[in-house]
Amino acid sequence: MVALFVFSIPAYAEWVGDARPLMGTEVSVRLWHEDAAVGREIVDKVFAEAARIDRLMSTYKEDSRISEINRNAAAEPVVAGDELFQLIRRSQDISVLTRGAFDITYDSVGQHYDFRNRQRPDEATVAAERELIDFRFVELDQAAGTVAFREEGVRINLGGIAKGYVVERGVSILRMNGVRHGIVTAGGDSRLLGDRRGQPWMVGIRDPRVDGEVAISVPLEDEAISTSGDYERYFEEGDTRYHHIIKPSTGKPAGGVHSATVFGPDAVITDALSTSVFVLGVDQGLRLIATLPDYESIVIDAEGRIFYSDGLQSPSP
Ligand code: ADP
Ligand code: MG
Repeated sequence: MVALFVFSIPAYAEWVGDARPLMGTEVSVRLWHEDAAVGREIVDKVFAEAARIDRLMSTYKEDSRISEINRNAAAEPVVAGDELFQLIRRSQDISVLTRGAFDITYDSVGQHYDFRNRQRPDEATVAAERELIDFRFVELDQAAGTVAFREEGVRINLGGIAKGYVVERGVSILRMNGVRHGIVTAGGDSRLLGDRRGQPWMVGIRDPRVDGEVAISVPLEDEAISTSGDYERYFEEGDTRYHHIIKPSTGKPAGGVHSATVFGPDAVITDALSTSVFVLGVDQGLRLIATLPDYESIVIDAEGRIFYSDGLQSPSP
């Protein structure tokens, strides 16, 4: 008598994934695949895509297209290429929506910060460069596909939206390759594909002041979630924390909030909106989110109090 076992799935179905330093942060991918070896190839494709986007959009790379725009767009219109053009256009739309709280020209001041070396611009530099923060200085010509700056000295930086784009592209790669359960994360931005095989993904929002602690866990499926915090890139001088989210109207790091989380269908939007809500603060930020039916928000203020947008039931701990 011979027992014959037939497995409906190959023996190597499993979760696969990896994390790598990219885009000045950590990018990670985790997915379920019936064939782990194939799964690992898909993981590598996502990292290759993240590296490609970084080469195109990093202001830290002299030879990136965005660096070329920053060098030349005040003198003449620069061809951006379709992909970069579209992301700049979407950034401009978010600037209009947030009345300038989100503004990629923040970088005329932002470029003077070096958080690792505790460098910040002095008052005179802030006062002068602040005048160059205004998304209306960026002129987009859809037909020509070009970007031009209306003023000398304007600079753009997609740090508040590019990671969401990487995450969105990463999940498209998973989907195109037949993956149904996965997560792609870049720094504070994540996009979930499907569920965690029968259970929701639990995404933790960090305690902004206790390293390694989770303040709130949110169960999510098939959604994007982004958190902007004043603990990612910063240094302290006395009682002042100089961090990387700049309030365009002052040219200084935005106060009042320790972290802003936004979730909804699109990681490009949640990324830009988390930065925006951080800048706008609890009241204005949550009022903005209330106008967007697909998006919800959780804000932790400077006293550690937690605020939820209207559409949100307080999630269980
Ligand atoms: P993280 O980089 O931690 O994910 P965010 O998504 O909030 O955080 O992005 C912060 C980044 O956004 C900054 O490092 C900077 O590159 C950029 N940025 C800062 N202030 C603004 C602003 N007012 N509008 C648009 N982008 C900004
Ligand atoms: Mg953001």
